Amino acid sequence: MTDLTLPSLAPEKTKTLLWSIAIALGTALIFFAVLRVEENHISKHERLQLVEMTDSFVAVFSDARGEDSPIPAHFRRLGIEHFSSTGQVERDGRANTQMRMPGLPGLELGTSEDDPRLSEVIAEFSDQSNHAPVHEQHWENGRLISRTLVPSIAEKETCVSCHNTLLGEEVFQLGDAMGAYVVERDMTANALADAKYAAVWFFGSLAVFWLIGFREHARNLHVLQLKSQVKIEEMKNAADAKEKFLLSHDPLTGLPNRKLFNEHLRDCFDLPERNTLTAALVDLDDFKLVNDTMGHAAGDALLVEVAQRLKAATREVDAMVARLGGDEFALIWNARNAFSLGAAVAPRMLAQVTRPMEFENWSITPKCSIGLACADQGMGQTPSELLKAADAALYSAKGLGKNTYQEYDKVIDACMQRQKTIAARLPDAIRNDDIRVALQPQVNLSNRQFRGFEALARWRLDGEDISPDEFITIAESSGVVKDLDLYVLKKAARFARTLSADMGVPVPISVNVSAKSFRSLSLAEDIQDILWTTGFDPELLTLEVTETAAMEKMEAVQATMGALRKQGVRSALDDFGTGYSSLAYLLRMEFDEIKIDREFVRDIHAGNDNHILVRHLADMLCQLDIDLVVEGIETEEQIALLHGVGNRVGQGYLFSRPLELEDVEGYLRTALNLPESAAQTGTKG
Ligand code: C2E
Ligand code: CA
Ligand code: CA
Repeated sequence: MTDLTLPSLAPEKTKTLLWSIAIALGTALIFFAVLRVEENHISKHERLQLVEMTDSFVAVFSDARGEDSPIPAHFRRLGIEHFSSTGQVERDGRANTQMRMPGLPGLELGTSEDDPRLSEVIAEFSDQSNHAPVHEQHWENGRLISRTLVPSIAEKETCVSCHNTLLGEEVFQLGDAMGAYVVERDMTANALADAKYAAVWFFGSLAVFWLIGFREHARNLHVLQLKSQVKIEEMKNAADAKEKFLLSHDPLTGLPNRKLFNEHLRDCFDLPERNTLTAALVDLDDFKLVNDTMGHAAGDALLVEVAQRLKAATREVDAMVARLGGDEFALIWNARNAFSLGAAVAPRMLAQVTRPMEFENWSITPKCSIGLACADQGMGQTPSELLKAADAALYSAKGLGKNTYQEYDKVIDACMQRQKTIAARLPDAIRNDDIRVALQPQVNLSNRQFRGFEALARWRLDGEDISPDEFITIAESSGVVKDLDLYVLKKAARFARTLSADMGVPVPISVNVSAKSFRSLSLAEDIQDILWTTGFDPELLTLEVTETAAMEKMEAVQATMGALRKQGVRSALDDFGTGYSSLAYLLRMEFDEIKIDREFVRDIHAGNDNHILVRHLADMLCQLDIDLVVEGIETEEQIALLHGVGNRVGQGYLFSRPLELEDVEGYLRTALNLPESAAQTGTKG
């Protein structure tokens, strides 16, 4: 899952605060440094001014006293003190500028200060030729001292001679530095004041930067939150779109699914040009074979490829290609011209689809049957009618031998009309007890003794016998087959119960149950109800399930049969040999008997595949204690071929055609060698 939480402000705040502190500290330091440099500059300037003024004071004194007269040191100091007291710069209300004028070490020149640094500086001055003033600033004894040393140059001969005279030797020459004026200033208070200003500056700028930064971050965060929200919305929309897509599309091929196809079809019928609507149903031939022999990956690849090919073949007619499920595809388009008529498009579809394709090391040649219907034809007046018509055409195409196409025509139309009629009349026929039940005997092949009956539905509609194959298929698609199956069971069970009571012999009955009936969750319960109400012995009942039903609805069949087996109901696998299913797989369902399909029996000849297969199957089933019922036995030759194979039961016209109920008692009396008169007494009694 993607994390959809919005970003929080807390880490951003801390970051902003740290940045603000750093920036404010930086600016405060710069501010402090600028103040100090500025102040230093000012104080230096002041001091130099002071020295100049002292010099000019001395000059005035010299002028008054005569050029060559020495100026007493204390007099000089007086002048200096005069300037000091009128201090140019004041802080905290007190003058803090001092001027000292020490002389050479050991030579009093009016000051008694003994400053080692002074001697050094004077020595430096003596070595220098330019005699530039020296400025220094130091922390001394907890005070910040700013000091300017200006050399006192021997500018006049009188100064030189005076000094030398005082020293008693020739030390100085004209131009030598004989001493220095020292102007000191205590900058401690200024530095503290500057620090205070810097602190104020620091906190002030901290507040400003933090506010600016915070606002910026808040704005960024807002933008981020908006972006996140947009992202979340986008993700939600994408998920919704995907969900929506999957609701309306087939995930394997990406084609629209049945639901979307039906919606599109309905929309197409609302348009004025609905009369040219053409529908095609495409069904892959032998797809199951590909799946079973090459695996599901091959089957999937085949479906994807066919989907692409159908799209390519119908691009020019702008058809919607949908996958209805399994190997069934549906197409719908408007046949506005000769080029886009069904009969013109279908060959192009066939040509495209049936090109060989490669899958891993296999070469597969897809084959398909196509059924076409146009909305202007009799049946295609509504979306469902159009699809039914295409389905009928498809069915007809399959009947023609596969890998071909068939258009819905008058013959098919008649067939569809008939199906419609049958579907409409069947529920009433069941309700009104119009369906008859015929019982076909089964005999043990070893001694031809009666073994039981299979119940088969019979229906005469408007004077015509409808084949069970036809009306059962229709009952399956119209959803009434379960009612029909239960109806036949009830009728057969009631009849067999009465007959058995009358004749004093057990009458086992086999009843067919359609795959579609297993859709109902209450099937087992419904069968139990019928057994209960008819009083038929469950142990005499066998339920026949076709191979395809067993494969398609394995779980439902197992559940239903499992519940009924507890009461003694038997199960039979019907029409075995018609599908491709593996026997091992089917045997997991614990059938009590297996019925070999009559189509299979019809093709039995001495020594052929079917013959060998039946013999092996019989041997195997004998070991598993499963009965083998051979259907559709019509000749003695067939029995001869089956001679010696296990515990076999036979069913077929050779023994008896399916019997109307009124003929059953007579058959049974003959089969069981019961006297005629006793039977009549039995039924009448
Ligand atoms: P089925 O279950 O295989 O039933 C056997 C079919 O073979 C019957 O066809 C029977 O008349 C026919 N038959 C029996 N012996 C021979 C023979 O020697 N030669 C030939 N050619 N045919 C023989 P019928 O009665 O037409 O039923 C066809 C199918 O309809 C049944 O095949 C069964 O699948 C289905 N059916 C019939 N009644 C019911 C029913 O009540 N419920 C369900 N679900 N299906 C039924
Ligand atoms: Ca059957
Ligand atoms: Ca059968």
